[in-house]
Formats: sequence, C-alpha cells, structure tokens
Amino acid sequence: MKNIKKDFPIFEKNPGLVYLDTTATSLKPRVVIERLLDYYQNFSANVFRGIYKISEKATAAFEHTREITAGFINAGQDEIVFTRNTTESINLVCYALGRKLISKGDEIVVSIAEHHSNFVPWQQLAFENGGVFKILPVNEQGILVQDWEKVITARTKILALTYVSNVLGTINPIKEIISTVRRIKKDIIILIDAAQAVSSIKIDVKELDCDFLVFSSHKMLGPTGVGVLYGKKDLLEESFPFMYGGEMISRVEIEQSIFQPPPHKFEAGTPAIGEVIAFSAALEYLQKLDLKKIKRYLSDLGRSVFNTLKDEFGENIKILGPADADQKTSIFSFSFYNFHPHDIAQILDEQNIAVRAGHHCAMPLHRFYNLGASVRASFYIYNDENDLKALIEGLKRVIKILS
Ligand code: PMP
Repeated sequence: MKNIKKDFPIFEKNPGLVYLDTTATSLKPRVVIERLLDYYQNFSANVFRGIYKISEKATAAFEHTREITAGFINAGQDEIVFTRNTTESINLVCYALGRKLISKGDEIVVSIAEHHSNFVPWQQLAFENGGVFKILPVNEQGILVQDWEKVITARTKILALTYVSNVLGTINPIKEIISTVRRIKKDIIILIDAAQAVSSIKIDVKELDCDFLVFSSHKMLGPTGVGVLYGKKDLLEESFPFMYGGEMISRVEIEQSIFQPPPHKFEAGTPAIGEVIAFSAALEYLQKLDLKKIKRYLSDLGRSVFNTLKDEFGENIKILGPADADQKTSIFSFSFYNFHPHDIAQILDEQNIAVRAGHHCAMPLHRFYNLGASVRASFYIYNDENDLKALIEGLKRVIKILS
C-alpha cells in the first residue's frame, strides 16, 4: 500500500529487504514497537496485583486491549482469552472442552489443509479418547470438497477448520459452511482457525456463529507471545481450566479451589503484559487502514503475482491452490522446475529475498500433492509490484545457477 514501508522500521535497518514471509510472521509497525517500549520504560508493573499507580495503569492498558480485540471481531469482552499463540488457543479448547466432549466412537472433523496446530491436537484427542478422526479432502485446486451430509453424522462432536490455508491461500466460505453444518447438526462445536484470515478479512463472530475462533497477534502486525481465543460465553463457562495457578482463582482453601469466571479462569500466571498492551496498537493500525481496503489491495496484488509467475515461467512453476484470486489470499506456495525448495530459498536469500521453504507445518497437505516441500512467498500490505519484480528476477537467477 502506498507509502506504508516507512511505518516499518525494519526496512530502514535492512535496506533492500524483500520480505515475502508474512504467513510465518508479519513485520511490526513503529506504533507497535513504541507501545511496547512505552510499557517497559514507563509502567512495567504486573497486572491485577498492585494497588499502586503503575500497576493500575498496566492493568487498565491490558484490559483495554481485550476491549479492542473484542470489538475487532464483534465479541463480548469476557469472551476473549489471551494465550501465547494460535497453537495454545487450540490446545486449550482441546483440553478444556474436547476432553470431556469426546468419548468412544465420537467424531472430530478437520480438513487435510490444516496447519499442524489445528490437526495434531485433535488427532491426539481422538486417539486418547477412542474417538474417530475424520479428514475433509480438498480437490486438485486446493478447494475444500464439501460433502457435509455424508461427513457430519449424529456422532460428530467437533469441526475444526481453517479460514485461510497457510499453504494454498484458499479462503474457505466459512459463513456458508457453518450454516450448512449447523442445519445438519445444530449443537456441533465449531472452531475456526483464523490465523491467516484475521489480518485481511473482516470477521464478525456473531454473524459467523462459530463457537471458537483463534488467531495470533504476531501474524497481524502485533508482538509475538500473544494469542487470542474467542469462545462463546456459555462454552467458556462450562470448560475446565487449562492451567492452574495464580490469577485464575478467586479463592483457594486446602479442601478446594474456586476459579475466576472466564476469561481469567484461562489466564493462569503472569501474561505477556507488554506484548498484549502493544497488540492494541496493531489492531488500531489495521482498523485505520481498513480491512476491506487491505483485502482489495491484496487480491489485486495477488492476481498480479499469479499472472506474472505464470507468464514468466509457464508449466515450470506449479502453484498450489486456486488460480482465481477471489478465492484466495496473497499466499503462493509452489514447486519450481525440479529444484529443491531449500536451494531456491537460499539463492533468493542471497538476493535479500525472504521466502519460506519446507512443508509449512502442513505435511498431510504436501503428501496429498505428492511433494515433500514447497517454496512459499506471501505478500502483505508492505509488499508491492517492486517486490514481485524482485522475486521474478530472483527466480531467473535460480534457474541460471541450478540448471
Ligand atoms: N494456523 C495457521 C493457519 C497458521 O498459519 C499458523 C502459523 N503458521 C498457525 C495456525 C500456528 O500459529 P502460531 O505458530 O502463532 O501458534
């Protein structure tokens, strides 16, 4: 987006950096870094404990982030739990609710395109409780095959699905999926992994009617160490605590302990205070840019990336996922000639182009495509046509060196 690079100090420190790995983690704008510094320099006290000024200030700022996060996805404030990341949010639901929900023969459904963090916890839960782990396929274009009448049965208890695939970029039509699934089975628990969606798609959890929605601050311009778990209030209330300890209790006696109501019931111990506080600056920054504009910008840029890569390299580049820019975000995983993805990434790095090579924590999906690994280039608001040009030139150099 226009003039935006100047908001990101990393470009001053690394002149010429072509950063194409936002899917792994986004860069951080100055406002986020400054808010983090502000906490550490001016009021770095613990939260909820002190009755002195800087602790009260830290507590207010911490809870203010909760308020902004809730507003960002139209949730209630007490429906927002801070965790460490998306992975922890999913494990929390798995442990706190999944454990008591799943017994022998009950089904958990995920798609083949899930990140391991929305795959392995459910797989393990099914193994441990004698449940059935069911996998939704995608077609050759990386579009979810929707055969819900067959998939959802009276024994299906949980559906855990990604909004946007971190490999294919495919945007699943989550709203339609949820309403179809609920028509078949009203009380199914639905968790949406929004880690790759929330930075470019406006999400309204009430409108979606999901039970849980999870994402990470670090993939949406915020600091690392902060994850979000949205959960419907009644479900959070009936879930077990995830971890026991300080902050999450209201009363402890030798005979028993009484826990706080949600969300604090799930926030044992000292949280990542400064990082949560600085996360609010990321949310404000995104709100100011306007998610609708971001989505439009990325889909135009994504269309250009796809067409240019295809025009330049034709059949020698195999881009995984949909060809239609409207069905995906600006994430491009590909294989290139017969070159090894790690060799490609290394040669690109020599030209200051940062891409990812590997299975991107999605081994079952790579196996579906008969690939051990792929190269992934992902574009975000600070990327533009110049970065695309650099990537094209970089790939031409890869051909020169490797062939
Ligand atoms: N789900 C998706 C779709 C992701 O892209 C990622 C990160 N690549 C995760 C989950 C896990 O996020 P985190 O590492 O922040 O827990």
